[in-house]
Amino acid sequence: MEGLFSRCVYLCKMLEDKNQSRTSLAELGEFGLINHITKHFKVSHKATVKAVGDDAAVLESSEKQTLITTDLLIEGVHFDLSYMPLKHLGYKAVVVNLSDVFAMNGEAEQITVSLAVSNRFPLEAIEELYAGIQLACETYTIDLIGGDTTSSTKGILISVTAIGKANKEDVVYRNTAKETDLIVVTGDLGAAFAGLQILEREKEVFKDNAAVQPDFSGKDYILERQLKPEARQDVIQLLKDLEVKPTSMIDISDGLSSEIIHLCQQGKVGCDLYENKIPLDPQVISTCEEFNIDATTVAINGGEDYELLFTIIMEDFEKIKGNPNFTIIGHMTSESEGIHLVTRANTKIRLKARGWDSISEE
Ligand code: ADP
Ligand code: MG
Repeated sequence: MEGLFSRCVYLCKMLEDKNQSRTSLAELGEFGLINHITKHFKVSHKATVKAVGDDAAVLESSEKQTLITTDLLIEGVHFDLSYMPLKHLGYKAVVVNLSDVFAMNGEAEQITVSLAVSNRFPLEAIEELYAGIQLACETYTIDLIGGDTTSSTKGILISVTAIGKANKEDVVYRNTAKETDLIVVTGDLGAAFAGLQILEREKEVFKDNAAVQPDFSGKDYILERQLKPEARQDVIQLLKDLEVKPTSMIDISDGLSSEIIHLCQQGKVGCDLYENKIPLDPQVISTCEEFNIDATTVAINGGEDYELLFTIIMEDFEKIKGNPNFTIIGHMTSESEGIHLVTRANTKIRLKARGWDSISEE
């Protein structure tokens, strides 16, 4: 993992050092660039009739329903290239979109990638970005079918659209939870936020003294969760195998608190979440101790975990019980009972959707 930071440093140097091998984007031209970055992508899905290269991609439609989702990522708003290597950015930009397709209980098949990039970036930087995009496509078996490339006056902007499919009867919406359903979360929470705290700290240290080696020891898991998140394609298959169809589902991009509020408000139900059930990795607990922040707050408000949050009927409890991928963290209640966290001290506090930034203000 130490390699990550040296790669960031390498990248920053590459952007500044005029003597390094760098091919200017202007020299290559838009057409040359598109050809260069897309030529290594292979098509895997039968439904992809025409990928990159024409005025539009062509997809064969099936009996299934089509799922479409887009995310826009802007440098300085959604990512910081001083510690986010471009390869990781490319990977993450794809993964966050696939996560939305999986959150509908669907299979993802294609993506488009649109890019605005300033002349400050050499071709080599764009190659890094596309190496990450390609790795994500290979890992999740996704076809890159098109996009757009243009220049920006400053920084990078990347927009990914993912296309997937699902049988009509398999699609899971946000607004269909029922009063007595159990609430389940996959994996563990808060690690991406904890990882970000480490990266921010080391960035400050590095700013003051570039000779200091960053201290990432014992932080591999949380750094990976921030820099190379994965979408839970495996869980969608697992749910099929277990014959569990969630009654509602959402992926955790903004934090557990904000996502459970979506499920409750859209489904017109309330909930009790149990603090002592929230799954935390030991690295999250120790990092929160180091930073003197509350681990539950980080798990609830941190965001960017890309785990799945879903509800199931009580009768499905037996099917998922004991599976290490799943933790039951509470149950739905009636709308009039409200949306609550039951603390370790057994007091009920009302959950609010607090954004990403508010944690550090506490
Ligand atoms: P047009 O001028 O008709 O919009 P472009 O020259 O922008 O076409 O694109 C040519 C082909 O390359 C299209 O298939 C388009 O989808 C694809 N493409 C353009 N930019 C990207 C990109 N950044 N990533 C992947 N495919 C791209
Ligand atoms: Mg175009």
